[in-house]
Formats: sequence, C-alpha cells, structure tokens
Amino acid sequence: MFDVNAIRADFPILSRQVNNKPLVYLDNGASAQKPQVVIDAVTKAYAEEYANVHRGLHYLSNLATDKYESVRGVVAKFLNAADEDEIILNSGTTEGINMVAYAWAAPRLQAGDEIVLSIMEHHANIVPWHFLRERQGVVLKWVETDADGNLDPQAVIDAIGPKTKLVAVTQVSNVLGTIVDVKSICHAARERGVPVLVDGSQGAVHMPVDVQDMGADFYPITGHKLYGPSGSGAIYVRKERQAEMIPFMGGGDMIKEVSRDTVIYNDPPMKFEAGTPGIVQTIGMGVALDYLMQIGMDNIAQHETDLCNYANERLRGLNWLNIQGNPANKAAIFSLTLNGGAHAHDISTVLDKKGVAVRAGTHCAMPLMEHMGVGATCRASFAMYNTKAEVDALIDALEFCHELFG
Ligand code: PMP
Repeated sequence: MFDVNAIRADFPILSRQVNNKPLVYLDNGASAQKPQVVIDAVTKAYAEEYANVHRGLHYLSNLATDKYESVRGVVAKFLNAADEDEIILNSGTTEGINMVAYAWAAPRLQAGDEIVLSIMEHHANIVPWHFLRERQGVVLKWVETDADGNLDPQAVIDAIGPKTKLVAVTQVSNVLGTIVDVKSICHAARERGVPVLVDGSQGAVHMPVDVQDMGADFYPITGHKLYGPSGSGAIYVRKERQAEMIPFMGGGDMIKEVSRDTVIYNDPPMKFEAGTPGIVQTIGMGVALDYLMQIGMDNIAQHETDLCNYANERLRGLNWLNIQGNPANKAAIFSLTLNGGAHAHDISTVLDKKGVAVRAGTHCAMPLMEHMGVGATCRASFAMYNTKAEVDALIDALEFCHELFG
C-alpha cells in the first residue's frame, strides 16, 4: 500500500518551515528532495567506506569499488536493461546526451544529415545537437506540439526521412508534463533503421520504465531528480550503439594500456567512464533507486496521477489563471501564468512568502516557450511525497497573488 505520510516521514527536509510557513516543495522538476536512506548512505560512504575506486589493492578501495559497481546492476534493474554493461555511469543527463553527441553522432553524421527533435526538448537535448549543426552542417528538424502541448508520435515518425540519422525526444516535458508515446516512436524509427535517444530525465521519475519494451537506443537519467544526489546519473546505451561509439573523454579507468605510441581502451562500459567518478553520489543514487523500487514505480505513478487529476480540476476552476498547454496525457507538472500579466518571477516570490516553492522562468526550454508564445511561466512540479493538501496550499497562495496583482 502506498502511504504518502510514511513516505513524507522519510524526507527530513519536508518537515521544515520556510518564511515561517510549512514548506510546500513543488520544484521537483528541477530537483527532488532526498530520503534519509540516501542521506545516511552518503554519510556512511564518506565516514566509513571511502577510497578511490577501480585502482586500489587495499580493503577500502575494494569496498568502495564493490559499492560503486553494484549501482550498475541497480540501474539496469530500474530500467530493465538486458545487460548491466549497457549502463554507463556518469554525472547526469547533460553528460549522457553530450556523450552521445561526441562519441556516437559526431563521427557518424555528415553535412546534410538530419536529427529529428521535438520543440519541447530541454536545452540539454538541444544544444549538443546545435554543436553538430554549427561544426558539421547537421540539420535539426523540429516537430511541434499542438496548442495543448500534445506531441503526436506520428508527426515525429513522419519527420523521419532518408537523411535522418537520429531522433532525440523527451519522454516527459519538463515544462508541460506532456507524456510522449516514445514506444511508438522508437519502434517506427527502428523499422526505418534510425536510432532514438529518449531523454528520461523526467520520465523515469514518474512512471515505470522498461528500455527493452520501449525500444530506445539511448536513455539518459539524472540521479538528483530521482531522489538521489546531484552529480550522479547514468545512460542506457543499447549494445549495438555502444559498439559504434568512440571514446568520449580520455583519462584513467577507460584504458587498459598506454604507451608512447599506442593506447588500448578498456572494455565498455568502462571505455566511456574516464577519470575518478562521482563515487559517493553514484552510491547514493543506487540507494535512491532501490528505495523507489521498494515503493514501486506503479504505486508512485498511481499516486501522482491522482494528484495530477486533483490539481488539474482545482486549477481549471480559476478563471484568472492559465495552465499553459495543458495536454490530455500528462505527468503532474503545471506551467502557470496569471491573466493580468503578472510576471512569473513576481508570482513565485509571493508564493515563496507563503512557503510554496516553485520555479519561474523559461525552464531551459526556450524553443517551447517561443512556440507557446509565452515569456516565462511559474512551474509547479509534483513528486511522490506531495499531497492534495499541498495542492490546496498552492491554490490558496495563487489566490493571494491574484488579489495582489489583480
Ligand atoms: N532533460 C530534461 C527533460 C530535464 O528536465 C533536465 C533537468 N531539468 C535535463 C534534461 C538535464 O538534466 P541535468 O541538469 O540533471 O543534467
């Protein structure tokens, strides 16, 4: 049974006050809070089990290596990858996507080749492809959402042409909460011989993920949104794609031998993990993923769907408020503007005074904001520990804003 109060009790920060008000943390799309098990694991790793990994012959180094390496299997289980060697550990989605751009795409794509993207990608799934456009003449082909922020998977499939070498699409929009039918996209692209990168930064947080069933070639996740430490992450890379990749960063750990004239690389996935990694962050991410699997991603998805429906109903009742591009099929992420035109930064400052933490701005998704014709929004993004009472607190604070700004 999913017990939101029991889950809340696992997160010490949720019982604090901000501005003399109980904290209502609705900025989970930016980063989620950490449960005590993660905080304890991080403390223990530093206090009792710390050394560098992969290179020591002493007790602590072996212990830290075992703890660190075990996370690969945890991520593989979390994503249902066929083999844990398909998991490359890193610092988060931004590193994961840049690795794909440098290690897989840059050596393969030529001037005129196309990458198909949706208009609602996060900058982390845009800017690395712009590098290829600037440096190699690769063409970015954009697929737009409808006015409600829905992305038609067929429109993405139809954009795939003879020159398309990659499709890069998010599973869940970090601005609108739109859930994309990535499975249909992956399967159709596969039939056409085109690999797909699915940005799992938001998706993996809100629903069960099975990369084999989805059919993605690349699936990056970021630990800090998954209730783990910042600076942790991983990317699933399908075996065939991994075999096509050249090393991304050079340094220790990714080599077997180096001489004056030659270098022999380590086997994947180590071949793509240069230097001392985020040892403790990664260990913390493993604990966070185990914690999520214990609760059950199905249970989390059900709770968040209930919360989303409740929030949608209540927010829709406010005729002075716009839910920007509110799609039919969404995760509990709401981009809000007030009819009177009050700036998103002013709204979020007032909400903060009421203890309600949201994010304001363009959310690292400027092409989407331009497409929607809005300058900035306030984003309320919910997590598994949020409650209906917190939706009510958000509404009360928004009503106060409405009175203040008219
Ligand atoms: N993609 C999406 C959809 C995101 O929401 C984010 C984080 N806001 C990222 C990529 C980048 O993640 P990170 O900053 O953790 O690398």
